[in-house]
Amino acid sequence: MMGALHRQCLWEHLTPRRPQALALGGEIKADVCVIGAGYTGLSAALHLLEAGRSVCVVEAHETGHGGSGRNVGLVNAGTWIRPDDAEATLGPEVGAKLNGLLGHAPAEVFALIARLGIDCQARRDGTLHMAHNAAGAADLRLREAQWLRRGARVELLTGARCAEYCGTDKVAAALLDHRAGTLNPMAYVCGLAEAVQRLGGRLFHHSPVVRLERQGDRWCVSTARGSVLAEKVVIASNAYTEGDWTQIRRHFFAGYYYQVASVPLQGEAAQRILPHAQGSWDTRTVLSSIRRDAEGRLVLGSLGNGEGKPDWFMRSWADRIQRHYFPSLGKLEWQFAWSGRIAFTPDHLMKLFEPAPGLLAVTGYNGRGVTTGTVVGKAFAEFLLHEDPEGLPLPFDGAKAVSLPGVRSALYEAGFSLYHAGQCLRVVL
Ligand SMILES: Cc1cc2nc3c(=O)[nH]c(=O)nc-3n(C[C@H](O)[C@H](O)[C@H](O)COP(=O)(O)OP(=O)(O)OC[C@H]3O[C@@H](n4cnc5c(N)ncnc54)[C@H](O)[C@@H]3O)c2cc1C
Repeated sequence: MMGALHRQCLWEHLTPRRPQALALGGEIKADVCVIGAGYTGLSAALHLLEAGRSVCVVEAHETGHGGSGRNVGLVNAGTWIRPDDAEATLGPEVGAKLNGLLGHAPAEVFALIARLGIDCQARRDGTLHMAHNAAGAADLRLREAQWLRRGARVELLTGARCAEYCGTDKVAAALLDHRAGTLNPMAYVCGLAEAVQRLGGRLFHHSPVVRLERQGDRWCVSTARGSVLAEKVVIASNAYTEGDWTQIRRHFFAGYYYQVASVPLQGEAAQRILPHAQGSWDTRTVLSSIRRDAEGRLVLGSLGNGEGKPDWFMRSWADRIQRHYFPSLGKLEWQFAWSGRIAFTPDHLMKLFEPAPGLLAVTGYNGRGVTTGTVVGKAFAEFLLHEDPEGLPLPFDGAKAVSLPGVRSALYEAGFSLYHAGQCLRVVL
């Protein structure tokens, strides 16, 4: 008989040693106050500390509570959209700069992990974008051509090599991106937090910011029990922003993503699945992501909110995807299920803000935050140190709000749920 699914994030389970921190109490001073302990905030804090600034990080819950602790762990290169499309939207100069920066971002992340000695099961074996049909294969051919023109190490796998790398014959072609890789996302964000603490950064947990206001020549960041007076502030609360002290939530619409992980798998059939350890996702509009963890679990995911969905639904969706791609595994036992929130923007590109001098914010990584958060945090640190806008990945945004973000989120969620119900009922795949 099957037990209940653990409604816990797998990466939390695999990262039992997480940084400890007290709640903020009383009034403290720092050069920079960072709001949010995810990749963006902690990367900003780390690079500011390394440059000799005093920094405190104020987190509403605990390190990695947001997307950083619960994502798929794909260390992706580039934006979600094709590089030509990024240049068409942003203009050739800004677009080329962003493509260059994010194309190189996995190298930055793996170098940072090595430099700080973070044990997060990082593997730079690439990622596989898998075509589910002929239209998907055509999209991948375009992506390959566009990245090759930019000198990136990508290759389109077809035929026997594709089947061998993916571990399934259900994939027409797969784009192997040698720049990219995988990691345990919670262990990475915890490693960043530990490095911040080692360098003397003050990290506060369970301290939601409730007010942000100017007091003389400083910013005052207030929580229920304390406050930080700082010259500069980085708002890194992104999709998980809580409270009405910032307008950041007007600049993205929330979408959800759930994951289901099996028990650790052994045996020959299991070894044939993604045998070279790439993380992958398919070209469906409502995509499925597929990876293995370091203990051999199969981890599947898709767009949509799994919270509130019953175990039978999560299991039957996971069974359907597994049996389609990997029928030789037979019936699997599913162990963990969890969900997270993603900040989407209508053009699939992030937005940077400087609402006032010395106050920086960002949102809208569109599901690509492991690398983007790390490089944006570093770029914010450099901007605060040198005030040179050339170092930023993008110019600051004109702050046009997303129209009807709540309605968009609800419509997307309804669409994802319908699609998944169709998958479970074998009407679509
Ligand atoms: C399920 C899922 C799968 C994903 N898969 C991938 C992937 O495979 N690869 C990839 O690159 N990206 C992926 N992403 C996206 C990626 O996880 C995020 O873009 C990234 O983690 C964002 O990092 P961040 O530091 O900007 O924000 P977050 O990690 O969300 O951190 C924001 C922090 O701010 C805190 N906060 C909010 N409000 C307040 C307040 N008032 N006061 C104090 N603190 C506050 C939150 O508690 C949170 O800890 C995925 C996201 C999800 C949810």
